[in-house]
Amino acid sequence: MPASDGGGVGAPRTDARLAALYQELLLDHYRRPRNKGALEPADVAATLKNPLCGDEIELRLAFEGDRVRDARWTGQGCAVSTASASMMTQLIAGKTAGEALAARDQVARMMNGDAAAAADPALGDLRALAGVARLPVRVKCAMLPWVALTQALTGRA
Ligand code: ZN
Repeated sequence: MPASDGGGVGAPRTDARLAALYQELLLDHYRRPRNKGALEPADVAATLKNPLCGDEIELRLAFEGDRVRDARWTGQGCAVSTASASMMTQLIAGKTAGEALAARDQVARMMNGDAAAAADPALGDLRALAGVARLPVRVKCAMLPWVALTQALTGRA
């Protein structure tokens, strides 16, 4: 018998509870998206579409010094892209461009199935999207706001 059969009695239940918690968190961000609305004036902006799903996002950022003072977005999309935009704008507030891009890299690793990235407390609510990594079509939805962020900050997608 593989050792994991005896060693992980509590694990499936814990995983199920965590999955339920994450599902609830995702739906909460979908139903009550944070930071959704216009931002005028903005220092940088980017508009992107995900034709595979029909998601659209316009991301606008205002800086104070070298830190994001306000991150807001408008658009429409599926639960995954909406939750990701909501969580992302929450996470990057107060960060420098470099810190925001480092968070993007960590989210991209999580979407690649990296378990350490998926467990990183620095990602906050975004860890609720870890399960999306199993669904390649949904990964595009989850990453859309982050690609918009990259474009807004660097001029490249
Ligand atoms: Zn989508």
